[in-house]
Amino acid sequence: MITTSAVVPWGREASARTQPEEDPARMAYDPRTQTGIPTENVGSLPRPAKLQAAYADYDSGTITKEQLEAEQDEAVRDSIERMEATGAPIVSDGEQRWSSFATYALADTLAGTGLADKLAGGGQYFAIFADGHRRQLPKLTGGPFRYKTYAADTLKKSIGFATRPMKQAVIAPSMLALLYPLDDEVSGYSREEFEADLIDECEKDIRGAFAAGAARVSVDFTEGRLATRKDPRNPWTGRDLLPHFIDLNNRVMARFTAEERSNIGVHTCPGGDRDSVHSADVDYHDLLPSMFTINAGYFLIQLASERDRDRVYKLVGEHSREDADGVAQMCYVGVINPLNPRVESAQEVCNALVRAAEFIPKERLGATDDCGFSPFSIDEKPNHGSPDYARDVAFQKIKNRVEGARMAADKLGMAVPG
Ligand SMILES: [Zn+2]
Repeated sequence: MITTSAVVPWGREASARTQPEEDPARMAYDPRTQTGIPTENVGSLPRPAKLQAAYADYDSGTITKEQLEAEQDEAVRDSIERMEATGAPIVSDGEQRWSSFATYALADTLAGTGLADKLAGGGQYFAIFADGHRRQLPKLTGGPFRYKTYAADTLKKSIGFATRPMKQAVIAPSMLALLYPLDDEVSGYSREEFEADLIDECEKDIRGAFAAGAARVSVDFTEGRLATRKDPRNPWTGRDLLPHFIDLNNRVMARFTAEERSNIGVHTCPGGDRDSVHSADVDYHDLLPSMFTINAGYFLIQLASERDRDRVYKLVGEHSREDADGVAQMCYVGVINPLNPRVESAQEVCNALVRAAEFIPKERLGATDDCGFSPFSIDEKPNHGSPDYARDVAFQKIKNRVEGARMAADKLGMAVPG
């Protein structure tokens, strides 16, 4: 279906239960509350081994959708409970109901079960990772393009498990633009018509997430850094698509007011799947000056695993904007590496933030993880040894990020009273 042998496929899944809440406290979330220096995760957590097995059983037809959904509910409950226990001021459901950060909108599972209308298997490779594995997209066969599942559909099922504000990640229009064949025309549906529909769907996805109760929405833009890699094995990376990607994202941002955009973020990273990356060798200088022209209110920036962090802090300080069409750009720097099982100490996190504040105005500084802890549902977390152990490690890392942000706020005179 969406996969070929030796290729890791992707897709998505949903379930049904709890009701969204219009909680005023949740809507009024202030990212500085509790930690002084704002801190927020990207979105995903490793799926427990038991849930990964359930996805496989669902693909092979040995369990029902209801049985899969029961496993998803259990994984979401555990994810939110443990993330709240870290002290994090804002939490996510760990994307436990999604087969991936990019294809939740398109298909029920990574193997392609329940693929949306007008899509077929065998599209472009999104990425070829450093360890040799690949992730492939479906391809568009006709129009109009519509999401099968919106982020709100799964958020509504998860939000009842949370007692703290929730964030929601969504996929960027630039990733889904790769559904359109690189060179061929889809019969009766031009690229321009497709991209117009795509922008509408992205806007709907973000608005729906807020309406379902998300306090913040971040757009996953991992393809940004990959867009300048020029990997001959993966033709789209050699077509200088970055300016077009930025334009697509700004077309979505233009649908929102400055006030709304203060709660809409963009995440950049060199990938983070099976503890491997796809574009760490791309110089951030090729991305960051363009990326900060996106009129988003905040950015979640992989940085902990960079070799020369000072150089990147400097780029962030130079290119992020005080006024991006009416909103100041908050820069959440990565202080945790989700691909490495070594747990960063709170002191290390604090030191990184204090250092970053020498290059980035402290009023616009935040802390995040370099990436989601498992953007794809099927992920053995090989550096960790198992997904269940990787979950334990992830919660320790999040706890230290939160504590380290608080310590840095103290040092920088940003601590909140009480
Ligand atoms: Zn990422």
